[in-house]
Amino acid sequence: MQPPRLKNDCFALPPGVDWTPVDDALGHLREALQPVTEVSTVALAGAAGLFLAEDAIARRAHPPAANSAVDGYGFAHAATGQGVQILPLVEGRAAAGAPFTGAVLAGMAIRILTGAILPEGVDTVVLEEDVTAEDGRIAFHGGLKPGANARKAGEDIHEGAVAVPAGHRLRAQELGLLASVGVGEVVAHRALRVGVLSTGDEVVDVSGAAATGQIFDANRPMLLSLLAEMGCVPVDLGHARDDAAALSAQLDAGAAQVDVILTSGGASAGDEDHVSALLSETGSMGLWRIAVKPGRPLAMGMWRGVPVFGLPGNPVAAFVCTLVFGAPAFRLLAGGRWRVPSGVMVPAAFSKNKKPGRREYLRARLVDGAAAVFASEGSGRISGLSWAEGLVELPDGAVDVGQGDPVRYIAFSDFTL
Ligand code: AMP
Ligand code: MG
Repeated sequence: MQPPRLKNDCFALPPGVDWTPVDDALGHLREALQPVTEVSTVALAGAAGLFLAEDAIARRAHPPAANSAVDGYGFAHAATGQGVQILPLVEGRAAAGAPFTGAVLAGMAIRILTGAILPEGVDTVVLEEDVTAEDGRIAFHGGLKPGANARKAGEDIHEGAVAVPAGHRLRAQELGLLASVGVGEVVAHRALRVGVLSTGDEVVDVSGAAATGQIFDANRPMLLSLLAEMGCVPVDLGHARDDAAALSAQLDAGAAQVDVILTSGGASAGDEDHVSALLSETGSMGLWRIAVKPGRPLAMGMWRGVPVFGLPGNPVAAFVCTLVFGAPAFRLLAGGRWRVPSGVMVPAAFSKNKKPGRREYLRARLVDGAAAVFASEGSGRISGLSWAEGLVELPDGAVDVGQGDPVRYIAFSDFTL
């Protein structure tokens, strides 16, 4: 099943807007995007990381039958009281995978092990550590709650209930849950394939040498690996020179094999900004001047039906924009529901006077529960990304942050599908 294509003008911004606030830009992505990946039935073993396209329904209750939560002795609670209880044991025992098939009469008890189905007549289990067993009888102190140490059938999930809803991403926990309720295959979107293309005449691959005036391509290895960490399938689309024909051919090749293209460099409106120039020619481009630091315009457009995120070339800006705008967008494209990481409020281990007019993301890490920020805010300092474990998000308006004031900290790992 192939979902409908995105509209060619889905990235158009309202005219006359100068600097778009981050939340407006995110709101626009939320409106414009929808799942683009095909849906099929997948075996659970191959479903990790995928988004469910349909609710996964429990084929079996969990637990499927009432059973013991401990090793001990089972009995009918109603036949016991307070004080010392002495109950004769029935012959045999109930173990996991080897149920006791007879009934346990009221006033008697049975040896029972963890996971064993409660035999007929048993609703309560006393822990073996709390029991003296001798001569076919057990003694323990009464006063247990009815149903103690026993799990009811379906107390976790009923048969026929929604175990995991559509739009939910299958993590390790969901695979465990689905297997436990007998779901061996799910209807899910295939993983989102995201292509990464570096642009710029000065940019060369790190596997070779760099002459004067050239710089190594930092963005491609960084973004490919970031996308994999986020849960996308990264696809290396190589490097394109600042040349319209060459770039156009590479976008063609990319669009044929991926669901989204991330380019870096050439996204502004200068002479050598060929990504934005080409996207403009398709009539699909929105030049998103977002009020964000680190930023620079994003060139958003469609190339042969495939959305293109034209990131700035600066590696710090490219990284932050992929986290802040890419992660939630990819989540929608991959079949998930909209989600923007909210982070946590922690005390600042820095002070800063921030002017109004744009949102700022500072490279940060937690030290003793407080957010420390990288010594330099310079967007050329790629070492700050390596030092950091997350971002401090400062609001659009003016703020005067003092040591110990609450600030929003978002771990890098939170920016994920
Ligand atoms: P641009 O957005 O093309 O104006 O590039 C902005 C800055 O980022 C320039 O200094 C570029 O040399 C640099 N840059 C562009 N692409 C890359 C890349 N793939 N790796 C490292 N730096 C880059
Ligand atoms: Mg350039």
